[in-house]
Amino acid sequence: MIFENTKDFARQLDDQDVLQKYKGEFIFPKVNGKNVIYFTGNSLGLQPKRTKSYVDEIMNDWAELGVEGHFFAQKPWWDYQERFAEPLSKIVGSLPSEVTVMNTLTVNLHLLMVSFYRPTKTRFKIICEEKAFPSDQYMFQSQVRFHGYNPEDAIVEIKRRDGEHNIRTEDVIAKINEVGEEVALVLIGGVNYYTGQVFDIRSITAAGHQVGAKVGWDLAHAAGNVKLELHDWEVDFAAWCSYKYMNSGPGNAAGCFVHEKHHSNKDLPRFAGWWGHNKEKRFKMESEFDPVEGVDGWQISNLPVLSLAPYLASVEMFDEVGMQVLIEKRKRLTAYLEFILTEIDNEVTSSFEIITPSNSSERGCQLSVLVHGEGKNLFGYLMKQGVIIDWREPNVIRLAPVPFYTSYEDVFNFGQILKKGMLK
Ligand SMILES: *Cc1c(COP(=O)(O)O)cnc(C)c1O
Repeated sequence: MIFENTKDFARQLDDQDVLQKYKGEFIFPKVNGKNVIYFTGNSLGLQPKRTKSYVDEIMNDWAELGVEGHFFAQKPWWDYQERFAEPLSKIVGSLPSEVTVMNTLTVNLHLLMVSFYRPTKTRFKIICEEKAFPSDQYMFQSQVRFHGYNPEDAIVEIKRRDGEHNIRTEDVIAKINEVGEEVALVLIGGVNYYTGQVFDIRSITAAGHQVGAKVGWDLAHAAGNVKLELHDWEVDFAAWCSYKYMNSGPGNAAGCFVHEKHHSNKDLPRFAGWWGHNKEKRFKMESEFDPVEGVDGWQISNLPVLSLAPYLASVEMFDEVGMQVLIEKRKRLTAYLEFILTEIDNEVTSSFEIITPSNSSERGCQLSVLVHGEGKNLFGYLMKQGVIIDWREPNVIRLAPVPFYTSYEDVFNFGQILKKGMLK
């Protein structure tokens, strides 16, 4: 499609957009009395209008029923998480029994590492990407130390080539093969939080399995953003937070995937708790642990229902729309933003560089822009003008036009504001 940098053209695209009406389903913060242009859904998604009623429902049931709400609430609390299995499985490409919600992201990854990072004297290394999200780095270091190994020996990072912003798939696979039988676990962020690069999950997972390793993915920036087929790709395990592209609210409950092939393996070590115990027998209070067959066997505690409720509202919205529609719009909208950035860059003198891959299969909705020169001032100016973006040291602005609630006109308007700021 040939794009144009005009308001009319942007409005035409909006008129053809089947998701257009969903913009009105979200609540926008305001700056100077006007709705902001919100480009930080990769950090904290906006609040859907319907979410409050999901939370109110729990509050009301609790008020009216007290403890009886566990079984008699409108959506009973004791197995509330089961409502996520169908819709979440469509979002991440899995069987319903492979996905659930529990805890928070880093906690889930730790718990899954208990089962899937089983180092031995000869096979103890973890392969991850260079500059992984800090929480993942701390997690790797603490897990390795917990098992009595030294992070310097046990953690192997895949590097970017000199002068390149992204990591090549061939280099990931070469590193896996090089470390070979010493690899216990490959665990990478499916979409890099800094550059927006999407990793080739299928090929990397296959390469990890070839050398006999387990392969897990941190899908914080991938879930609800890019196409996932976790079951078919034979991913061993994965986890994601729900507050980024999935609009569940700050710090809310996280998603978790364990492949079916591991479900009946009772020898897998895990940290257990009563909510992972066979549902029929849970309240018999017996002392021998009998895990639910399926990912729910990794549940530990009584469910944080007030934190699950907003996520349920969100997951139901995804189900209404379908990932395919979101992905189609995301591709076009991100391409339009890329076009607008290139147009503006040609018109102004101080220049910037998009470091996110330009190939639409290697990126999701985020574009990371390296700003040469007065980057921090430009960031401050944009925020004052009601464009909510984020700044990552030393000089990167991340822009995520989330397809659910960003219009083409927003992207056009952003371009106009940006141009003014750069001509000053
Ligand atoms: C956002 C993010 C996290 C956050 O982890 P929490 O446990 O939810 O705080 C972890 N990993 C990656 C890659 C992220 O982008």
